[in-house]
Amino acid sequence: MSFDFDLFVIGGGSGGVRAARVAAGDTGAKVALAEEDRYGGTCVIRGCVPKKLMVFASEFPEMAAEARAYGWVMPTGDFNWGSFKGKLHAELDRLEGIYRRLLANSGVETFDARAKVVDAHTVELSTGERKTAKHILLAMGGRPVKLDVPGAELAITSNEIFHLDELPGSMLIVGGGYIASEFAGVMNGLGVKTTQFYRGEQILRGFDNETRTLVADEMIRGGIDLQLNTNVVSLERDASGAIRVVDTNGAEHLFDQVMFATGRAPNTDDMGLEEAGVKLGRKGEVVVDDYSQTDVPSIYAVGDVTDRVNLTPVAIREGMAFVDTVFKGTPTKVDHDLIPTAIFTQPEIGTVGMGEEEAAAKGPIEVYATSFRPMRSMFAGSDAKVLMKLIVDANTRVVLGCHIVAPAAGEMIQLAGIAVKMGATKEDFDRTVAVHPTMSEEMVTMKTPTRTAG
Ligand SMILES: Cc1cc2nc3c(=O)[nH]c(=O)nc-3n(C[C@H](O)[C@H](O)[C@H](O)COP(=O)(O)OP(=O)(O)OC[C@H]3O[C@@H](n4cnc5c(N)ncnc54)[C@H](O)[C@@H]3O)c2cc1C
Repeated sequence: MSFDFDLFVIGGGSGGVRAARVAAGDTGAKVALAEEDRYGGTCVIRGCVPKKLMVFASEFPEMAAEARAYGWVMPTGDFNWGSFKGKLHAELDRLEGIYRRLLANSGVETFDARAKVVDAHTVELSTGERKTAKHILLAMGGRPVKLDVPGAELAITSNEIFHLDELPGSMLIVGGGYIASEFAGVMNGLGVKTTQFYRGEQILRGFDNETRTLVADEMIRGGIDLQLNTNVVSLERDASGAIRVVDTNGAEHLFDQVMFATGRAPNTDDMGLEEAGVKLGRKGEVVVDDYSQTDVPSIYAVGDVTDRVNLTPVAIREGMAFVDTVFKGTPTKVDHDLIPTAIFTQPEIGTVGMGEEEAAAKGPIEVYATSFRPMRSMFAGSDAKVLMKLIVDANTRVVLGCHIVAPAAGEMIQLAGIAVKMGATKEDFDRTVAVHPTMSEEMVTMKTPTRTAG
């Protein structure tokens, strides 16, 4: 049977673009890709990249305050959102151009259209055209989901935050995940009076408890009004133009802007998937095996649409493993174990492996943890604290988890992640000479366990 293409990729985000260009570039496969919106996907256009640039923008007032404490005579000055926003979008345009060029240079044929699945080997484009392919790769990513409450249409999501006409005077961010917590830090840093509601006991569920407690405490110390065990009941436009929010404790508040960061859903609606025999899970995610293959042998799926580990480098890995498996004759499972990651809260988290609670539930552990005021900010008179923490298997001595709360923790954990991934023991950490004076030297100088558990 002959097909128009060897591979048709639906979605031009992190996973789809990588898979398409490696399949075409490395193996000479005839590849097509459809993107309904902008190339680069969530990460480049409305996720990691613009977010990190906003994190950078929001950190300057604290740096200016520190500079003054170090003897610099300087005012903080004012933040010009319009000028920043213009530069931000120019940068996103530049990056999108790079993604388009990468695809073109690898010989991938692109369609600026929405695509849906017709059957195991056919996709239909919003232009009405149908294309056939030996393999179809689903890489449609996910989208933010708002709370189902009256007035929800008044709230924005992370998609809109990069397009605000002006910075609000006050803002409510609803949610306790990493996106909500990161944007609370960003808005607070940019001078917006920021409130964060989270319905649970503590933000950043799933992360090590000591780590998330320290971050929450520091966020409050930094000026965020964090209200736990609190959710939104309704929103309505006030006569003054502000948004009146009623919360689950019965209190009423007025905010200039409300953002829901209350979860994400895979983009599988109206895609013809179940009709074609592709199984979907409870959240609508595409169900795949270890090789990213769906129930239909010619259809694979990678990235957020599968709701495994929703991070850009993971989507990219899954895309490459798919190409290895299907186009390079090397069946490759994606290794989802010990993924280092950063949360760009203020302060930042770097984490790899198990948290204390999770590890203790599995067996006996030693915990090595130290929380202290680091030299740079302490000199400037700040009470800000950092945390360095190792979770060690009491029997094998293997480091099961490493958790850092500190400026540049994301940079640190990338490197610590190599050691942890290699199976380093506590003694391997101990025989590594400290880099002095740094914060992370504590990682190799903690001699006695802070506590044992499990
Ligand atoms: C605010 C925010 C911050 C984030 N920060 C980080 C971070 O710091 N680090 C990190 O690793 N990850 C981060 N992420 C997660 C990261 O963005 C995603 O994990 C990653 O983009 C997933 O890649 P993907 O290829 O699966 O999907 P996406 O990047 O979402 O790409 C999917 C693409 O498919 C297109 N599409 C959808 N349906 C169709 C269709 N039917 N036809 C044609 N095209 C279609 C979409 O328009 C989109 O361009 C963040 C996400 C958000 C929302």
